[in-house]
Amino acid sequence: MAAQMTDGHRRFLQVLMSHGIMEGSEARKLHRHCCEIHKVYYAHDKLDDFINTINVHLQPLFMQIRKGTSEDDGRVHYALVNLAETEITKMASDYTENELELFRKTMDLIILSENGFASSTEVLNFADQLKSKKMKKKEAEQVLKLFVEDKWLSERNGEYTLHTRCIMEMEQYILSNYQGVARKCNICHSLAIQSQVCETCGIGMHLPCVGKYFKAQTEPHCPHCNDFWPHEIPEVSRTDSQLSSKRGRGKQLHSQH
Ligand SMILES: [Zn+2]
Ligand SMILES: [Zn+2]
Repeated sequence: MAAQMTDGHRRFLQVLMSHGIMEGSEARKLHRHCCEIHKVYYAHDKLDDFINTINVHLQPLFMQIRKGTSEDDGRVHYALVNLAETEITKMASDYTENELELFRKTMDLIILSENGFASSTEVLNFADQLKSKKMKKKEAEQVLKLFVEDKWLSERNGEYTLHTRCIMEMEQYILSNYQGVARKCNICHSLAIQSQVCETCGIGMHLPCVGKYFKAQTEPHCPHCNDFWPHEIPEVSRTDSQLSSKRGRGKQLHSQH
């Protein structure tokens, strides 16, 4: 039988809901906080069990707290995702038709790009070509800002990519709608938007996965075709990564502010 939802679980869910997505160390702090406040059994390594209990109760609502990894730094994140709708219709209640069209265009640009980024200039060029209702550039800039605030897009120096939350929510949608274009990471087998791609065989890897995989190798070779890996190898972040999440936990808690 499923464990009981306590007030501690409910508080955790409410806070996560208001954030949409949380980084692993934040979620662990929140877990501890919720258990302390509501005098619920707490063990620092039981966050996933704690979340499973919530998930059992979320199931009838077609919602789930999902664990995923950031493409930027390989850190674990927890996001509340909506399982009822598998498409961009998840966003339909929050945006107008032409805003959604602009989002789809942006997503196209990001997924069809080499490195997983679309420049604001490229996106804004679509603003006055939208079929549903044209947008002024200024207006489109505001909408892009909103997508970033709502954690559908991430922006870095005028370049946009999909936010971790967006990838966690829309992985299935993207894989089925961009077949043959969207690729899975050769290392962790989840969708890879920002990736390095083998010029010989075409496999892709997330940057943090590349960093970890080639960490100890002086001359990197493709794990699939064994050809020389011609890209710059990113540094592995020492914080909350998939591989280090089981160990070195105390360190992460202290390094977070
Ligand atoms: Zn990966
Ligand atoms: Zn290869």
